[in-house]
Amino acid sequence: MSDLGEELSLRLREVEEAGLLRVLHPVASPQGVEIETRGGRVLNFSSNDYLGLANHPALKVAAHAAIDRAGVGTGASRLISGDHEEHERLEGIIRSFKRVEAALSFSSGYAAALGTIPALVGDGDVVILDKLCHACLVDGARLSGAVIRVFPHNNVEKLESHLRWAREKYPASKVLVLAESVYSMDGDLAPLGAIVEAKERHGAWLMLDEAHGVGVVGEHGRGLADHLGLTNRVDVHMGTLGKALGASGAYIAGSRILREHLVNRARSFIFTTASSPVVAAAAGAAIELLQTADGEALRQRLMGNLACLAELRKLARPESAIVPIMLGAEEEAVRASKALLDLGLLVPAVRYPTVAKGAARLRLTVTAAHGRDQIERLASALATLA
Ligand SMILES: *Cc1c(COP(=O)(O)O)cnc(C)c1O
Repeated sequence: MSDLGEELSLRLREVEEAGLLRVLHPVASPQGVEIETRGGRVLNFSSNDYLGLANHPALKVAAHAAIDRAGVGTGASRLISGDHEEHERLEGIIRSFKRVEAALSFSSGYAAALGTIPALVGDGDVVILDKLCHACLVDGARLSGAVIRVFPHNNVEKLESHLRWAREKYPASKVLVLAESVYSMDGDLAPLGAIVEAKERHGAWLMLDEAHGVGVVGEHGRGLADHLGLTNRVDVHMGTLGKALGASGAYIAGSRILREHLVNRARSFIFTTASSPVVAAAAGAAIELLQTADGEALRQRLMGNLACLAELRKLARPESAIVPIMLGAEEEAVRASKALLDLGLLVPAVRYPTVAKGAARLRLTVTAAHGRDQIERLASALATLA
């Protein structure tokens, strides 16, 4: 057997030769529109902090107060002695924000998916998911042991034919459909009404990941399901607390019985130390802020900035805060990102395995905290690329 170090350096060289090597870039400032990196100050168009809440005074005040009330750590899992009132309070806030019976928080969206999907389906069941679903949904589906079928992105006809197939081939099995409300790398929306109707026709369940919808889509950022009046027809709601909500962690929301089941069966909930009460308090403050006039004003500012970028770039108005600029080749995307960085603009290249091979792109995100002058600077830099 070869030495581990030698073996890994061989593997890394292959990654590098494919133009896919990734490295970390530590930030020395709070998150925001301008961040301090080792290469200097850059204008940030890469963050999912869509409303500028990650460094917002309301969240910081809530976090400081929580430290004084509850300390920093939890010392145990939720089911042992780490369940703090701050967690239950956050879950109450999520429940009323999402207008559902109950919610359960997880330490991350990744953990929420990995715990929830295998708690709902297993061997002999079927999971049907959109081709562009996030890695955590794919991994959760694999971990469940269910048979997996993938439908082309947003193709409800193909979803319907998979549902028919599942019903014929596995008449006694549970069928779970996975979709996102806003797709994380393309920024487009799911045809949620048609998906709900399809899954209902075939008696399947639907889990909807609103990671990029919460805080952005619909009144007060309640998400796409609420916006379309479909909350009660989505069986399992998922959202993250670390993107537009500016903190970290995630939630699964829906019925009381779903919450109780996950407390008993979601392994990523059971076998992990409870997340910090400080984070729970910050996330709760973010959701409370969203429901105020100030919160709605931030969301409107985000929409205004997106409209401004669309106008300058002559694009259709984006459906979300994510604006992909498709380039195709991996090296092309890396080169464009590097050229923008030389101009002081941070716009990440997204490539395989985050997206399909040959579907590399710049993934730029606009936030409520950007100023019009900064959007203009971005638009003119993008124009020089072409
Ligand atoms: C970011 C993301 C997740 C994972 O959430 P984390 O809290 O970052 O682990 C899940 N689903 C989608 C669609 C995402 O974009």
